[in-house]
Amino acid sequence: MKIHINGYKGRMGQAIIAAAEQAGIEISGKTDVGDDFVPEIPKADVVIDFSFHSVTPVLAQACAAAGKALIIGTTGHNADERAIIELAAKQIPIVWAGNYSVGVNVLNWLVGKAARLLDASFEVELVEMHHHHKKDAPSGTAEKLLKVIESARGQDRSVERHGRSGVIGERSREEIGVHALRGGSVVGDHTVIFAGEGERVELTHKAESRAIFANGAVHAAAWIVGKAPAIYGMEDVLGLK
Ligand code: NAD
Repeated sequence: MKIHINGYKGRMGQAIIAAAEQAGIEISGKTDVGDDFVPEIPKADVVIDFSFHSVTPVLAQACAAAGKALIIGTTGHNADERAIIELAAKQIPIVWAGNYSVGVNVLNWLVGKAARLLDASFEVELVEMHHHHKKDAPSGTAEKLLKVIESARGQDRSVERHGRSGVIGERSREEIGVHALRGGSVVGDHTVIFAGEGERVELTHKAESRAIFANGAVHAAAWIVGKAPAIYGMEDVLGLK
């Protein structure tokens, strides 16, 4: 199996190169800002994208035209960009995960379980922290955790409260506070707090190295070969469903 890496000069791109080399997977090509990925895609079996949100839809269309599978690591896509990627998935298999680590995918499962077991008197807050270079907030991992909690509790996105400031009154029981901390070299911390009367459950994952995401993305690339066109998550790759 051969992979093409888009965004190879970045922090994740470099981690993907290291993970592929360790796994003995051949890299057919690498592109970054200013490079044309279109002629490179046919040389690969799978394309891995850790670049910038506006690039992914164009890359997905190029992968669909060439009939090549795509692993999307990039986060922060808007609704228009998501729609173009979803259209491409009618022609090619795509793994699209906000977080490729095994630990975070188990955290998603545990948070869903806790959100169902702990009744609505347990108020939910989500705190994430990342390095000062990160451009989008909340993180893709936080977005996924919010989806897991909301679907477990039959809520929609309107319950999310992103940050608090000023005299805003008491917290409503159903709202989910979301707080994005940025600073230093933090690879990625996520904590979901279920705060009840007299007790609190906190579920935390701390990423210490980008290798966990890179290994997961390379694992997903090996898994996706030969799959039917669709959008898959890491829960499919890891068999957590
Ligand atoms: P980074 O800024 O270090 O690297 C991004 C790279 O993409 C840079 O080399 C940049 O030059 C390149 N790039 C930008 N525009 C491009 C274009 N038009 N064409 C080709 N390359 C282009 O960022 P990073 O820390 O490596 O993260 C990259 C993305 O991956 C972010 O969206 C981040 O949130 C996401 N991420 C996802 C996971 C996950 O598990 N899903 C984990 C870590 C980071």
